[in-house]
Amino acid sequence: MLFRELNIIEPILEALKTEGYTEPTPIQTKAIPPLFEGRDLLGCAQTGTGKTAAFAIPILQGLAQEYRNAKGKRQIKALILAPTRELAIQIEDSFKAYGKYLNLKTLVVYGGVSQHPQTRSLSSGIDILVATPGRLLDLVNQKYIRLNQVKYFVLDEADMMLDMGMLPDVKRIIKLIPEIRQTLFFSATMPDEIVKLSGSILNRPVTVSITPVSSTVDVIEQSVYQVDKVNKINLLVHLLKNKSIVSALVFSRTKHGADKIVKALDRAGLQAQAIHGNKSQNARQLALKNFKERKTRILVATDIAARGIDIEELSHVFNFDLPEVPETYVHRIGRTGRAGLGGIAIAFCDQEEKLLLQDIQKLTSKAITVVGDHPFPWNEKLQLTTSKSVAAGGRNKKTSYTKSSSTKKKNVFKSYVK
Ligand code: AMP
Repeated sequence: MLFRELNIIEPILEALKTEGYTEPTPIQTKAIPPLFEGRDLLGCAQTGTGKTAAFAIPILQGLAQEYRNAKGKRQIKALILAPTRELAIQIEDSFKAYGKYLNLKTLVVYGGVSQHPQTRSLSSGIDILVATPGRLLDLVNQKYIRLNQVKYFVLDEADMMLDMGMLPDVKRIIKLIPEIRQTLFFSATMPDEIVKLSGSILNRPVTVSITPVSSTVDVIEQSVYQVDKVNKINLLVHLLKNKSIVSALVFSRTKHGADKIVKALDRAGLQAQAIHGNKSQNARQLALKNFKERKTRILVATDIAARGIDIEELSHVFNFDLPEVPETYVHRIGRTGRAGLGGIAIAFCDQEEKLLLQDIQKLTSKAITVVGDHPFPWNEKLQLTTSKSVAAGGRNKKTSYTKSSSTKKKNVFKSYVK
């Protein structure tokens, strides 16, 4: 399948060529035709699948065709809501890249920075607005933004918005946009509240489901190091001293923890930067930019960077702390292995995190190699048990958690005792 076969107009095809895209990804193949027909869409897809282009291309094409000859000041015709500032910026970049040869103006607005440059751009008129919910409402309340001409509405990473407590703002925004519109709703997981929200804002949507979040990207090589809590930093330093690790994104559960890791790495002569919610927006963007441009080799992040953020050819993801919610593990490691490239995900598991690891195992149904052979091993052995084997009191010897074909469907894992 080629992009040309999807009836995409020449200027967008040209821009895709410039980006180096030759073939549409599965979500693009499935979503673009019904979106061209004006259908609403419910997309169950994680980042890394090419979902941004899947919604950006039809919107750009629709706007280019409908409003080619429009006169007067530009009005906001497309609104894209994203949960984090970094993701919003990335979406704006995509619209600009794919719409490079079109006469359309895109702007991104988000909080944490001065609103003046944003309001200046708004006053000259824009066609496509990418926004985080808080700043958008703020600017609407100050009358810098009117949403009454919106024809295309995209809600991206809806489940993350739920996690971040943004749904009340999102609902307020939905009340401000016309009921007659095309709505595109993307969520990696579909918890009850998200199902309810999608049901209330979508009109007979086409559903496109790509790689559910529980099926970890196959190309990622995963391993878990058994390490005592106090030794995690020593192990991280030890591993990062290996120069073959080109770029490493290290996830910490807390902001304070992220700062501590950066300091400790610094003391060990490993330069790193942190990105989390206590940093100013400028510091966050700079840290991300330096990392993307390979000026910094190590970025330490809280889950602010677990979703949506696209880093080309990121080689390693470290889970310094295991996340409380197993889906978060999948989002975190999904920062590597993007666009089909390989990647390595290394998790640290201390004694108190055994249950978290079990939950991850249950969700992903993938083999995670246990590495016991390193300079900072546990003084006790890692024991992984499934509810079934716990109930049976049984334990099997195995050196890695692997799904045997007979247990495949039952999602049952063997316990591990070294
Ligand atoms: P997304 O899921 O939208 O974050 O996209 C993941 C990555 O895939 C981004 O780096 C995109 O630039 C890239 N990408 C999107 N569509 C294609 C395509 N058709 N061919 C190759 N790469 C793509």
